[in-house]
Amino acid sequence: MIKLENISKRFDDNPVLKGIDMRVNKSEVVVIMGPSGSGKSTLLRCITFLEEPNAGVVSLGGNKVEASHEKRKTDIRLLRQNTGFVFQQFNLFPHKTALENVMEGPIVIKKMDRHKAKELAVSLLDKVGLANRMDHYPAQLSGGQQQRVAITRALSMEPKVMLYDEPTSALDPELVREVLQVMKDLAKEGMTMVVVTHEVAFARDVADRVIFMDDGVIVEEGSPQEIFFNPKEERTKHFLQDVS
Ligand code: ATP
Ligand code: MG
Repeated sequence: MIKLENISKRFDDNPVLKGIDMRVNKSEVVVIMGPSGSGKSTLLRCITFLEEPNAGVVSLGGNKVEASHEKRKTDIRLLRQNTGFVFQQFNLFPHKTALENVMEGPIVIKKMDRHKAKELAVSLLDKVGLANRMDHYPAQLSGGQQQRVAITRALSMEPKVMLYDEPTSALDPELVREVLQVMKDLAKEGMTMVVVTHEVAFARDVADRVIFMDDGVIVEEGSPQEIFFNPKEERTKHFLQDVS
């Protein structure tokens, strides 16, 4: 589903991604972990060219986008249409209700008619347990509810892949579970997902594969069992002592 080849990114003379190769299969859930500053967010952002890599190729489905290639603009648009991005800060439109937030993408980008967009948004919001919060504005919702709206908004574009960058780290502890549950349900339905998170229990239960990154490289990857119970690399062992 996703293939990254030799993705490299530097900011000025600071190399942040040093030739990342990564594959994510259809319906696979891949969790990325690693210390602060290791390049996790930059890597996710490079997948959709929110950050343009200095070198490398991103393929999603049949669509292949090469860094700095002159014809890449249309391909980047396709890439973004096929990915749902969920950020740590929920980034909802503050002056739109939950329902309007979810309807926006299908209407504006997909040119879906209003009635259909509403039907879709209502059914998705219902699915994430927000049937009775549709007419609330973001400020009237808890962090967990806002993040569930943000996930729903991404889903409304019917992406092939969902990318999450620390979706629960801005939440109070008691709200983390409801967001993880929505993500877990999606994974069960076969959604392809890449999740940057420090939630070890989520990774253990839901991930098919865990990638440990440090200093712009993939240090180690494997099943949750391998990474959490039998890590091979010193850097991984050291990191896990700190998070668990
Ligand atoms: P965290 O766990 O704290 O979110 P991370 O693994 O997501 O960390 P990144 O945000 O990808 O790390 O940052 C990796 C490195 O790139 C850091 O050294 C950071 O300072 C640098 N960096 C990220 N974005 C920019 C930018 N827009 N301009 C300059 N440097 C940047
Ligand atoms: Mg980050």
